[in-house]
Amino acid sequence: MKFPIYLDNQSTTPIDPKALDAMLPYFQTEFGNAASQHPLGLKAKAAVEEARNKIAQLIHAEDADEIIFTSGATEANNLAIKGIAEMYRERGNHIITSAIEHKSIMDTCKYLEGVGFEITYLPVSQEGLINVDDVRHAMTPKTILISIMHANNEIGTIQPLPEIGKLAKEKNIFFHSDLVQSAGKILVDVETFQLDLASLSAHKMYGPKGIGALYVRKRNPRVRLAPQIHGGGHERALRSGTLNVPAIVGFGKAAEIAKKELSAESNRIFNLREKLRQKIEKIGDVHINGNLKRRLPGNLNISFGGIEGETFLNELCEKLAVSSGSACTSATPEPSHVLKALGLGEDRIHTSIRFGIGRFNTEEEINYAIDYVSEIVNRLREASPIYKTNLNTSLRDSSQSKVEAIHLSFPRKRESTNMDPR
Ligand code: PMP
Repeated sequence: MKFPIYLDNQSTTPIDPKALDAMLPYFQTEFGNAASQHPLGLKAKAAVEEARNKIAQLIHAEDADEIIFTSGATEANNLAIKGIAEMYRERGNHIITSAIEHKSIMDTCKYLEGVGFEITYLPVSQEGLINVDDVRHAMTPKTILISIMHANNEIGTIQPLPEIGKLAKEKNIFFHSDLVQSAGKILVDVETFQLDLASLSAHKMYGPKGIGALYVRKRNPRVRLAPQIHGGGHERALRSGTLNVPAIVGFGKAAEIAKKELSAESNRIFNLREKLRQKIEKIGDVHINGNLKRRLPGNLNISFGGIEGETFLNELCEKLAVSSGSACTSATPEPSHVLKALGLGEDRIHTSIRFGIGRFNTEEEINYAIDYVSEIVNRLREASPIYKTNLNTSLRDSSQSKVEAIHLSFPRKRESTNMDPR
């Protein structure tokens, strides 16, 4: 086993060797600019278009041209939200989002508030789920955009996108979703979700860092956006700049692998997650953060009673690469806004650990993590006389009912011609 054991796959994923191999020629012999007209350029362009196709297929987009390459999902989220806000300002100035979005959505919305937009940040339940009725009640004649993430990066909860999409469609409001954590992990389908815009990032699905995409619907309706980066008119003039061909090729390969492996892989990861959860729950006085049933297969976010968060994390990090709720979402070490939105107290937030299981984790690693976590928690609690007294009164059996994998199927509304419905 290699240490530290990497259990932080919501933060980033290691690149799949097959994606890396696909990229290498485009750094070396096939270095052409995809906008050039000579053979080297045409070869690069063909590789880009192949990747675009694979990514479109992963999210069940009708047309590969609906995929616009960006530097990552932060940029895709900015382009979606500011692009709609600027383009449709005349129609209205109200945007609906949620209190648990990624910072690249939250900060973009904060920025727009500063220039005259009104933003509704929908609350979530204690379990981290959005109530569809709250979306309905928040809509006004001035609402131009609803942006709700699919799966949360900290607690893995999965939002009811098909229901929200239906509401948005009824009122002709554009619907955007940050699909970063769900694409390639569970089924995503821009038609079933009735999405107009969707953000993706390669490094969360075993592709390279620094490349992402925005899905921009071309039909029913055709979505127009105000570009945020001006230049040579690349990417349907929505995002100028010379294309990062090797990264795009790696992204495409990663999408192809994810689509092929999705079902088997998510089952395997789900089983590892469930083993980790059940064994950790046996330690006692632990609390799962976020709904367990509507959740990404590989995510486990748990708070541990009766220990001091920082000491715990420091000890854990000697052998396990995991994240903590006190400082995991941005470059600034603040307590997680997601856990706060669940209404959790300081203690729960400061002792929360996010385990993110991924493609390259083995059962041996999970077994090691179980023993290692149990040993540290028990030792820290033994050393705390106050905890031992309190435990007798507060210990409860936190074991949850058996959970079933969420990723396997959903009814399909549209019969696609060339796409695998899984
Ligand atoms: N959205 C979510 C849900 C994320 O988890 C992340 C990455 N932490 C991003 C957006 C930003 O993606 P990128 O790193 O590609 O900018």
